Amino acid sequence: MEQPSLPIMEHFYTLQGEGVFAGQAAYFIRLAGCDVGCVWCDVKESWEVHPKQWMPIDDIVGQAAAFPSRMAVITGGEPLMYDLTALTHHLKQAGFRTHIETSGAYPLSGQWDWICVSPKKFKAPLPEVVAEADELKIIVFHKSDFEWAEKYAAMVKPGCRLLLQPEWDKKHSSEALIVDYVKAHPQWSISIQSHKYLDIP
Ligand code: SF4
Repeated sequence: MEQPSLPIMEHFYTLQGEGVFAGQAAYFIRLAGCDVGCVWCDVKESWEVHPKQWMPIDDIVGQAAAFPSRMAVITGGEPLMYDLTALTHHLKQAGFRTHIETSGAYPLSGQWDWICVSPKKFKAPLPEVVAEADELKIIVFHKSDFEWAEKYAAMVKPGCRLLLQPEWDKKHSSEALIVDYVKAHPQWSISIQSHKYLDIP
């Protein structure tokens, strides 16, 4: 169903900090609303939706198009709580590549050039969304997370990029674990949250 507006927590031009496209300029659109409930969530302020956050899609895309990059990253919150057909349609009309970052807990909607699924233990992803992932990004904060990561790696399509990312507050111990794991399992790569090291949004 066409949605002329979406609840937007924030939208800004920056560099993609993590994952396969780390280091590239992108317009971030962070939708408000999430019921996944990760205890280590670094955007807990995105969980609630406030009435004043609803914003016409035309406005969002118009503001994004004022910047030179044509990569739009839709994140949250959990963006797939909403039907994203209209947003991706308008972004594509404006010449954007459309990227999404999702926990996979809700059905896929919209037209995507890149789907990053980051499963969460607090609300399991839908297998059909994991199967569409171009990038599987697992947040690691304990050794047991590697076994959990492999469970989802077995569900992705051929060619999906497999990334292990340290949980920021435990990054020193997680980074060491991941480096060892990637050396032993080279189908995986490490994803570093470079925007946090660079102190950019
Ligand atoms: Fe936070 Fe993302 Fe987890 Fe939602 S899915 S609680 S926004 S980390």
